Amino acid sequence: MAGEMRLDHLIRGDIVTPEAVLADGWIAVSGERIAAIGTGEAPEAAAVHAHRGRLVLPGLVDGHMHTSSHTGWEGIAGATRSAAAGGITTVCDMPYDTPRPVMDAEALAAKIEAVGRHAYIDVSLYATVRKSGGLDQIAPMASLGCTAFKLSTFEVDPVRFPRIDHGEMREAFQEIARTGRMAAIHNEDQEIVQRLIADAKASGRTGPEMHAATRPPLAERLANLAVFELGLATGCHVHLAHSSLAAGFDQAAAARAAGGRASAETCLHYLCMTKEALLAHPGIAKCTPPFRSEAEVEGSWAALLAGRVAYISTDHAPWPLSRKRFAGDIFAVGAGLTGLQTLAPLLYTLLERRGLPPTLIARFAAERPARFHGLWPKKGALVPGADADICILARGRFRFDAARIEDREEHRWSLWDGVEMSARVAETWSRGERVWDGERVLAAPGRGRFQPRLSDAPVEPGA
Ligand SMILES: [Zn+2]
Repeated sequence: MAGEMRLDHLIRGDIVTPEAVLADGWIAVSGERIAAIGTGEAPEAAAVHAHRGRLVLPGLVDGHMHTSSHTGWEGIAGATRSAAAGGITTVCDMPYDTPRPVMDAEALAAKIEAVGRHAYIDVSLYATVRKSGGLDQIAPMASLGCTAFKLSTFEVDPVRFPRIDHGEMREAFQEIARTGRMAAIHNEDQEIVQRLIADAKASGRTGPEMHAATRPPLAERLANLAVFELGLATGCHVHLAHSSLAAGFDQAAAARAAGGRASAETCLHYLCMTKEALLAHPGIAKCTPPFRSEAEVEGSWAALLAGRVAYISTDHAPWPLSRKRFAGDIFAVGAGLTGLQTLAPLLYTLLERRGLPPTLIARFAAERPARFHGLWPKKGALVPGADADICILARGRFRFDAARIEDREEHRWSLWDGVEMSARVAETWSRGERVWDGERVLAAPGRGRFQPRLSDAPVEPGA
């Protein structure tokens, strides 16, 4: 099986793939790669790591997160260190950076270089376009290996995170379609949301309940409809970067049925939180799109189990705690949650409560994000030849402690602080090396590598 190949490590435990749990299985590692995988009699290796009763998963791939929206490149170090502690071995980082978003080849090259200096685990990069006049940069950025493009229908910031109007978006989609990448979309309608926020502010209604009220389902559904129509007209793979609504997955399916390349992603928080959370945790629980109702949570699970969800991401947004404090005006609070260290334990916990198998973690938080970003099977797969990226979960009762977040002090906050989980990340392996031992991050900044898209061939967005 492994032939004459020298085996460095043998990792034993219950191996979790998208298809099955192989009880008392093993993974043989040679150098940075997986050499063999199996059950029963195992080959000899220099070191044996017994994890009897633990789940041995592919290292998780977070297909949507942000490292550098606030602080610049030191955010790469903080977020990827936290990812290592969370069993995540590849992150796909969004382009909306401060001070310079990834909007041209020069900025992408600079970020690739920064990843090589700061990252603890492997990083793939999204690129974006300027508000107007920057579409000639799409092809060169694809050549540099960005795995996807991100565009927004809503303006968070005119330079860092601009709204791309439909005229520009149509032309951008034509260019992106030629690269085989998907165009991931922040999907909220600008006019609807801005009007409702202006009305709320004018009447002095700035409480936490006004966040969801000013970003109604209509704003999201309208944006979804527009971008899927633009995708149909241009042949571009259009992907909702987050659907807080069950209907988003139906809209993607309808666009596919009409001949389009369309998909939609959920974030872990949309599978467990409702808008009441923002009343209990004003500030901390603010994200966009906002949390919805119990019915939307259940509808999103139904879509997931029906195979209509592209993948599950964190949308990790490490604002400093000072930006998340509510002081009477919900509109002044930064939108986004931390999520890298809660992804694996919380997803396991939610699956266990629903009587669902951990194979869904391997499928929706490793294999599928890796496929959509053109990284599979190097990433997100436990197969011979793949990078030996591994996440080991210990089951039990553990309370999540935000003080243990492996990022800089002002980023150690979580909506799930103090919440009981049914699993913890016992170890993380990145390319054949243990980078988290359950207590400490063992890697150094600069160990992580930029992971370019492996191929320009488009992926099949359907389930
Ligand atoms: Zn995001």
